[in-house]
Amino acid sequence: MTDLARRVYETAEARGVRIEVPFPEPIVAEAGALSLAAPYIREKRYRKPLVVADENTYRAAGARLMDEMAAVGLAPELTLVLPDRLGDVIADEASIVQTLLDVQRYGADVIVAAGSGTLHDISRYAAYTAGLSFVSVPTAASVDGFNSRGAPLVIRGEKITVQAIGPIAIFADLDVLRKAPPAMAAAGFGDMLGKLTSLFDWQFGRMTGGEPYSELVADITEQALRDCIENVQAIGSRTEAGIRILMQSLVESGLAMLMLGQSHPASGAEHHLSHYWEMELMRTGRRALLHGAKVGVACAEISALYHSLAAEQAAGGEEEARALRQALDRVPAAETIRGWLREAGGPATIRELGISEELLQRSLAEAHRIRPNRFTLLRAYNDGRAALRN
Ligand SMILES: [Zn+2]
Repeated sequence: MTDLARRVYETAEARGVRIEVPFPEPIVAEAGALSLAAPYIREKRYRKPLVVADENTYRAAGARLMDEMAAVGLAPELTLVLPDRLGDVIADEASIVQTLLDVQRYGADVIVAAGSGTLHDISRYAAYTAGLSFVSVPTAASVDGFNSRGAPLVIRGEKITVQAIGPIAIFADLDVLRKAPPAMAAAGFGDMLGKLTSLFDWQFGRMTGGEPYSELVADITEQALRDCIENVQAIGSRTEAGIRILMQSLVESGLAMLMLGQSHPASGAEHHLSHYWEMELMRTGRRALLHGAKVGVACAEISALYHSLAAEQAAGGEEEARALRQALDRVPAAETIRGWLREAGGPATIRELGISEELLQRSLAEAHRIRPNRFTLLRAYNDGRAALRN
């Protein structure tokens, strides 16, 4: 059994860096890993696990988890999170309260998230609020936030990210992940490709805004990103090896954020664009899109914009401008990014994603305000345009 955190520990050790923040233990991604969850929970002396799933993930993993827990003498209960009016399962006040009520009703002593990123966000916030630990059983390799401590929630139709907790252990069963809808793995790949522009924006923020920076964290994120790109074909055809590499990369990206204590390495202007689109869809009552699908397409759009700015951009001194151009040279062209997205089986353009040109243009002009204190090239570009108008 290989722990997915091992490479991160080894990379840190090779640089003489001690990792202070505790990681989940173990973090396993292998065929059959689901069956490790019940014995783990019993060994930790929990008795009443509450499995949080939706209808699909209950079928994919939740039902078996409950059988296996009962078989080792635990008394599992289930929260089946219901979809909203549009059919989307979201981490909103209804889902959170539904879970918390079940925690109280059953006297649960641990929460087990069986599902996607959204079910993890519901679980991590409910567990945090109830003072419980939670165990992660992902059913799709769709996002890099499984081990995050922040929970993006939707409260009264507005998205906010609040403090929560990370899982104490992650059991990612490759057999389960491979059976997830193909769009999920493609979205996970899109979330990873987003690092192409987030790593650039982080460099930019470090040089122009004095943002906190760590070579080690950047290298870990970049290595995970490279692995994904090199194995895009295996990921697109969802072979066991491909899905393992994707899951490993998503976990490593998450661990990198934990080490930094901030999301800089994995979230730049492409994530701000994605959030902008998400809020617009919510406001206009349309169905949600997968996070990673939006991030992948947004990454291509940001790359196109940044490369078009490259010639004119000369922030700071000569040396700084040269360093930025060098950093931008490492961001592939939009068409290259779109080619990888296609190979992974996901949408590659705003049209394929279902985002209008009008919304794209508006988001390019306004998305930086979502995170106004973060220095991105998108923000500098828009601040520059505003200065010219005045
Ligand atoms: Zn993301």
